[in-house]
Amino acid sequence: MPPDFPAQLLRWVEEGALAKAIEAARRELPNFEGEERGRVLLALSTACWNSGDNLDALRAAVSAGDAFRSCRSLTGVCDAMIRIAASLRSAGDHASAVTTLERAEEVARDIDDPQRLAAVLRNVGVCCSLVERHQQALSCLTETCTLLEPGGSPYDRHVARLSLNNARNRRAMSLPEASDERRAELQALLGDWQELVAQTGAAGLATLQVMAMGNHAITLRQCGRHDEAIVELQALLERYRAFGMRPNEGLCFCEIGRCFEAQRRHADARESYLRAIEILKDGGTLSDLQDATDGLSRVEEAAGHFKAALDALKEVRSIERRKSDEAAASTMAQRELRIELARLTSTWARQATLDPLTGLGNRRALDLWMSDSLPRVEQGEPITLLLLDLDHFKQVNDRFGHGVGDEVLRRVAGLIQQNCRSADLAVRYGGEEFVLALFGVAHEAATDVAHRLRASVEAEAWGVVAEGLKVSVSIGVAAAFEAVDGAALLTLADRRLYSAKLGGRNQVVTAG
Ligand code: GH3
Ligand code: MG
Ligand code: MG
Repeated sequence: MPPDFPAQLLRWVEEGALAKAIEAARRELPNFEGEERGRVLLALSTACWNSGDNLDALRAAVSAGDAFRSCRSLTGVCDAMIRIAASLRSAGDHASAVTTLERAEEVARDIDDPQRLAAVLRNVGVCCSLVERHQQALSCLTETCTLLEPGGSPYDRHVARLSLNNARNRRAMSLPEASDERRAELQALLGDWQELVAQTGAAGLATLQVMAMGNHAITLRQCGRHDEAIVELQALLERYRAFGMRPNEGLCFCEIGRCFEAQRRHADARESYLRAIEILKDGGTLSDLQDATDGLSRVEEAAGHFKAALDALKEVRSIERRKSDEAAASTMAQRELRIELARLTSTWARQATLDPLTGLGNRRALDLWMSDSLPRVEQGEPITLLLLDLDHFKQVNDRFGHGVGDEVLRRVAGLIQQNCRSADLAVRYGGEEFVLALFGVAHEAATDVAHRLRASVEAEAWGVVAEGLKVSVSIGVAAAFEAVDGAALLTLADRRLYSAKLGGRNQVVTAG
């Protein structure tokens, strides 16, 4: 196996060797754990997504999120959420994609990582633009560009500009056709596309450059400059062919057809639409095929070929039927995606509610967990709460400094996590107080966990962190059946914690 296996997987994805990447990722996954496992799963998700399998892409991305969270990699969690949103978006569920990305945005802002934040915001911007939330789209994409100005890679910077220009174009086209504002914005875009063509060319980013060129030509057509648009589009055909970008070649013929159509050059338009249809029939989307066929029926009609126009219209109808069949299938797939998401709701809530220092949940996560889980107590599910407080932690800070104090908090968080299962919830409740909520565990078993945790904190090799450092915790334990609600449960655990402190600290109190 290559030293950086996840990077190798991504290279295969880039080269289009999707089946190979998927097979290798699945085969090797059991050999990975922690952060590396998360990265293998992310690559798997990307490969599945590229091969059009949204459900598997979603599953892999969610598992990646779990893997990252269990090793407290918030950047990883953020990346996983971006992939989750990509699957949702491809399934046509833009609303859920935006919600997911808004949560990812919270995480990215929390960890103060401009690159991650930029990646999240670009995705929010693209989604918002597609659902016509133009103002939000523009402000997200403008911020993305600003964030990437100092430290972003040239590729990321140019992709961000491409997305921003596309969003501006979508907004401009939503304005009234004859409005000055629409005309002015399209005019400004022409200059900006040209600038991007030059910059991507200088940076050697060939595929981005052809995309910018294509968009420049389309904007020319939207400005009514058909002759210039045709010249550019015809030159682009060659490039698309050279890059093997078949569907783009089809779209390009369709655009050329539109230009000829606007100029009433019926025979040329007909020719172009026919070429577009031929290419889009194998490899294009149904919507693009429908557009081209619709165009054909219009020019046949304008040329007085009524029989041919009718035939093309019939074809449009049949494509429409196929589209609605596909839409039904995609609604089914979306339902499946939603069921999968619902299963993971509590995981999601936790992702949005992480404590940046330790990667555990925060107080908000506990509130959510309580409102989710406490009702189940009535159905007989035991729930137990452990409230932990570090002993004499002020002295740790005073004697060894705040940096050592923080490291202690991180390590204690790690120990707590080692002592719980995925169904449990570990939370940093306040400065040096933690809550471990155990689900489906009876009082005695939970008490064992508390004792084990207390002992493992005491036994940790603290001398490695700072010479002479010693750390211990006091723990109060309370079971849900002893309290009427979540607040009462916490109060009870807190009272027992207080008894543990009074009793000399470094101990567990479970009753009284
Ligand atoms: P006790 O055994 O009674 O709990 O003693 P204590 O010193 O732990 O008690 P107290 O709750 O009064 O002190 C908590 C201290 O935790 C105060 C604060 O300096 C420290 N603390 C809170 N949050 C953080 C943090 O994020 N980092 C660090 N390094 N210290 C923190
Ligand atoms: Mg305290
Ligand atoms: Mg304390």
